Amino acid sequence: MSSIFTKIISREIKSEIVYEQDNLIVIKDINPKAKTHLLIIPKKEIPTINDLTINDKDLIADMFLVAKKIAKDLNIDAWYRLHFNVWALWWQEVMHIHLHLLSDI
Ligand code: 5GP
Repeated sequence: MSSIFTKIISREIKSEIVYEQDNLIVIKDINPKAKTHLLIIPKKEIPTINDLTINDKDLIADMFLVAKKIAKDLNIDAWYRLHFNVWALWWQEVMHIHLHLLSDI
């Protein structure tokens, strides 16, 4: 079943997209937990971090490199947090991996 993020990527559902490249998209979180709260989402639908394989290593590297670029572009690179929720059946709301980028600067 398609995740809500797959529908955002395909523009079936509207979202505030702040950045896009061939393999990922960056959107504003609909329910921000910090002044800046972005989600870096691969276009490939991978349910959880537990489902990653070695074939995904370039994709994961790109997610962190894009997080770094966006933090710099937004001038929040002096202080920000990056995290994945990995509790597949509990904390993780959307079963399509996404890197949270949060900052209160
Ligand atoms: P998780 O707990 O799965 O790591 O976090 C999912 C995040 O996605 C939450 O912070 C939640 O606010 C955000 N989210 C859920 N549905 C939508 C949506 O339809 N649009 C956007 N922009 N964010 C969403």
